[in-house]
Amino acid sequence: MSDQLVKFMLGTGHVRGVMVRLEATWAELQRRRSYPQAVAGLVGQMAAASALLAGSLKFDGALILQMQGDGPLKLAVAECQPDFGLRATAKMDAAFDDSSALPSDLAALLNTHGQGRCAITLDPRNPQSGLQPYQGIVALTDAQGHTLPTLAAVLEQYLAQSEQIDSMLLLASNAQVVSGLLLQRMPGAQQATGAAGGNSADDDFARARHLAATLQDDELLQLAPEDILRRLFWEEEARVFEPLAPRFHCTCSRARVAGMLRMLGRGEVESILADQGEVDVRCEFCGQGYAFDAIDAAQVFVNELDQPPVSPSRH
Ligand SMILES: [Zn+2]
Repeated sequence: MSDQLVKFMLGTGHVRGVMVRLEATWAELQRRRSYPQAVAGLVGQMAAASALLAGSLKFDGALILQMQGDGPLKLAVAECQPDFGLRATAKMDAAFDDSSALPSDLAALLNTHGQGRCAITLDPRNPQSGLQPYQGIVALTDAQGHTLPTLAAVLEQYLAQSEQIDSMLLLASNAQVVSGLLLQRMPGAQQATGAAGGNSADDDFARARHLAATLQDDELLQLAPEDILRRLFWEEEARVFEPLAPRFHCTCSRARVAGMLRMLGRGEVESILADQGEVDVRCEFCGQGYAFDAIDAAQVFVNELDQPPVSPSRH
């Protein structure tokens, strides 16, 4: 089954949704980076969720979903580009690296001291568009201070708090497949009462939610998105749009790494060159290595030659 992202609209247009199913993409994400078993499911679900959120927005740029932890898992990141190119990475606390005894629940993995956070960043593709990067951050806890049980619950809370959109999110993962379903009440549809004999947006959303809740993880993982939509919403006049094709794609490049070295500064780069003979940068998303020897590094800073020397010892 090919990887798919499918947008749809239900009934009278008060409810919209997105489904995603990743198989080849998920295999490639795991081939590029190996994740401890306890973390792999979360990373896969984050990749699926980033595609679902990107699919629900009209935004020309990257959507970056981050989980920042204060436990064994320090950071997990999934990024979705406007064409649904996906990449992901995760960073464990050094003490837990390669451990098979990791906890798999969110609280123990990410929120040991209650400082875990979920952040969503929208990074415009074209800086000239005038759009500013936007970031929303939420804690991983509910109103009672308990860690939410799943990534899906964290993101539902995020959407309710930050975007004021009633949402239902289902995510499932195994070693071969990650899948997800996002249902949302259309923004602005809240006050609609419908025509005579019609249903309100509240009723439409409640019914769609109720139907989606009957879906088992196994079905979400095994069936094609269109089959799931047909099965769940066959009475709802679902309008299903042309499937889109998510895939693995890393946006790293030699030019971007050169830009990082420029930010690091000539002094720091020369010190690494003196120690190691070359600067070796490895992309933490895809594993691609970028090596800069002394000549390459000089090239990186060539445009700075006409600027005044930074170090007083230079002559
Ligand atoms: Zn890369």
